Amino acid sequence: MPVPQFIALPAFQDNYIWLIANEKTLQVAAVDPGDALPVITWLSRHPEYQLSTILITHHHRDHTGGVLTLKAATGCKVWGPANNSIQGIDRTLEDGFKVQLFGEQLEVLAVPGHTLDHIAYYHADPDNPWLLSGDTLFAGGCGRLFEGSAEQMHQSLARLAALPDHTTIYCTHEYTQANLRFAHAVEPDNADIKTRLEVVDDLRSDGRMTLPTTLALEKRTNPFLRSEVPAVVAAAVRQTGVTTAPGVPTFAAIRAWKDIF
Ligand SMILES: [Zn+2]
Repeated sequence: MPVPQFIALPAFQDNYIWLIANEKTLQVAAVDPGDALPVITWLSRHPEYQLSTILITHHHRDHTGGVLTLKAATGCKVWGPANNSIQGIDRTLEDGFKVQLFGEQLEVLAVPGHTLDHIAYYHADPDNPWLLSGDTLFAGGCGRLFEGSAEQMHQSLARLAALPDHTTIYCTHEYTQANLRFAHAVEPDNADIKTRLEVVDDLRSDGRMTLPTTLALEKRTNPFLRSEVPAVVAAAVRQTGVTTAPGVPTFAAIRAWKDIF
């Protein structure tokens, strides 16, 4: 059976380690391997494939914990953000860098907010663009603000939202159901959110994955990409009890609400 280009390996409670496979060179890249074991297990079941590259989006342990073990086991190269706390990085990437993975170009986008070092990887294929969004843009939600400000995260998400609508988004957690329950609370009259929540409820009741997603779907259903939409601004006003402007203030109010939802 042919190996698909993108393979999701579940890890921990709700992480996914994405593998990007190249059937011509029989190489794979692993994105944010917080645990080495799922990757090693996959490689042992596909002995024709070799792990060539690890791509890191940010320093959190559940995204980096498997790096040194995988590097020692396979000799792969590790790419990641400029952050000395991440061990094992061979190639430090900054905003605007263009790197070649299996002959395809990836653009590095700095997207601070969840952490200050967070980067995303974008492949600008006109027919099939894709994005590795890490813990910045989730299906139906966005990452918590551990290090950056609401303004930084809002700007990072705006940058991702400017990519083509048909961009496929590979994020790193199975948070979609909880995110959409919150999205439904923010916009109870949004039919796209209701429909999507039903689809996701069905998938999860079968234990199935809800990823990847697309930017078009996120723009219709993800409240964190909708802080200019009147219904979302109104929800922020209801939640905070004070006048809240569209954009950053609404985003900040919705993000703080999600933290306690
Ligand atoms: Zn994280």
